[in-house]
Amino acid sequence: MKTIGLLGGMSWESSIEYERTINEYVRTRLGGSASASLIIRSYNFAEIHELQDTGGWGAAGKRLAMDAARLEESGAEIIILCTNTMHRLADEIENAITVPFLHIADATAKAIVEDGVRTVGLLGTRYTMEADFYAGRLREYGLDILVPEPPDRTIIHDVIYDELVRGIISDDSRLKYLRVIGALAAKGAEAIIAGCTEIELLVRPSDLTLPYYPTARIHAEAAARLALE
Ligand code: GLU
Repeated sequence: MKTIGLLGGMSWESSIEYERTINEYVRTRLGGSASASLIIRSYNFAEIHELQDTGGWGAAGKRLAMDAARLEESGAEIIILCTNTMHRLADEIENAITVPFLHIADATAKAIVEDGVRTVGLLGTRYTMEADFYAGRLREYGLDILVPEPPDRTIIHDVIYDELVRGIISDDSRLKYLRVIGALAAKGAEAIIAGCTEIELLVRPSDLTLPYYPTARIHAEAAARLALE
């Protein structure tokens, strides 16, 4: 079994779910007392959030690249970044390491394509919904990507930073999300991507009638599968 290096804490509310998902996958596959071999670099999210807010993407990229290299030096054989948003800096990370970097959008797109879905609604932070690093990567798999209208993007983004990364799960916000999902379905979305790793803590597959792609779970399982290949 290979050792997985995780760049996490973005936020830790979802990173602990990565750890749980990977360990559960390994236990199911190997049985007995088996668990995953992991090295975790978990950040103070307030520092990351500050860099995002002030446009400090260059500094954030340097920090992630340096820590990815450290994970590799420490024995990581696969590296994953436990957030969709910070995949904006995926190239910086990949350039700093020689071991495989498993991109969250690739893992998600493969799961969607396997199911024969073509048009998907994307929810995430403003960065993920509006910049091309994420939707563009999904389109390379032949997917059509729909994002919410601007006022709804603000709602989705604010709930992530004001509530979900702070551990606040509210019924009221879940209803707001379900309304936005309904609007995406009305525009033709056949399925929904929870394109922020905390969204699946708020909206569960059972809350929807559409197929649902929770990126933290899909990414964590893909990493665990690769570690056992
Ligand atoms: N975890 C989030 C994501 O998947 C947002 C937090 C962040 O800005 O990294 O995009």
